[in-house]
Amino acid sequence: MRMSWVRGGIIGKGSFGTVSLAADRSNGSIFAVKSINFNSSTPRAIAALENEIRLLSSLNCPHIVSYLGDDLTEEPGGRFLNLHLEYLPGGTAAELAASGKMTEKEVRGTTRCIVRALHYLHSKAGVVHGDVKGRNVVLESRATGDAKLVDLGSAREVVGGREKGEGTPLWMSPEVARGESATPASDVWSVGCTVIEMVNGGRQPWGIVGSDPIMEMFGLGFREAVPEMPAGISKVGADFIEKCLRREPGERWSCEELLRHSFLGDWEEMSPRSVFGMGEMEDGECVEEEGRRRMRELQSPEELKWGRGGWVEVRGKYQSQYL
Ligand code: ATP
Repeated sequence: MRMSWVRGGIIGKGSFGTVSLAADRSNGSIFAVKSINFNSSTPRAIAALENEIRLLSSLNCPHIVSYLGDDLTEEPGGRFLNLHLEYLPGGTAAELAASGKMTEKEVRGTTRCIVRALHYLHSKAGVVHGDVKGRNVVLESRATGDAKLVDLGSAREVVGGREKGEGTPLWMSPEVARGESATPASDVWSVGCTVIEMVNGGRQPWGIVGSDPIMEMFGLGFREAVPEMPAGISKVGADFIEKCLRREPGERWSCEELLRHSFLGDWEEMSPRSVFGMGEMEDGECVEEEGRRRMRELQSPEELKWGRGGWVEVRGKYQSQYL
């Protein structure tokens, strides 16, 4: 079935794609669309989005941004490959941290969402995310602090993934910096870096600004260093970070173990309002409930408040799946 939609303003830009707001013409529902322009993108960027579409369309987890479909479009600026995603309006964890408004309690809540997402990816889907950082964690709502992992452009299957890991250098584990492939343990290292980033007001881990990135990578891979523990973090927070930032991958805690760490466990008691507090629910039930809630939200009048100014009509060439 053909679907037509209109492209709105840009809400995010990464190294591989542009994320815009979009509206479905048939029912007015709002979604996010991550696009690359075939005319101006590198083969690597095209491969990253194709990889993301392939992986995301097979996942089903309330802590990972939902795949809504994908298509090809002809637009005035060129020919685009588009990944349709649920729209998460709360901004990234990096932005929230940089605004200085993230308490340690909120850091714990967001970390819990990230670790739950990774636990699903590692143990149920057999996938390594490969680029965990504050910019790839987007809040569903600032009020509840519910957050989801986005950007599976660097993700790989755990089994058979022998190619060198990718990702963002300062969040990268020492072994990936040395050119080894990404593993569940390398995602856990990046979780430690992301907690430091959130506690430190959105500053990058390692706190080194403006130095030579090649030297950075060399130092990270070959020196015996770990990022500095943030000043003022609680004892339990410091212990959690230490379990993630062990240079030897085999000594890092798994996501399953991290979910039992009291840095995350206590938070569950403190935030009974959160939908993600329902840890005992089976994944399927949780997903179903989450999906129903999200669809209601997307179709609510508040979501339809976007003006028409600047929106570009787009007609999909094909559509592989759409909810
Ligand atoms: P990177 O440079 O990290 O590789 P990328 O090109 O792969 O980036 P994404 O990280 O997927 O792109 O998205 C870029 C930005 O767009 C995010 O940091 C976030 O601000 C925003 N964004 C992505 N997905 C969504 C979404 N579903 N809802 C709202 N904002 C989003």
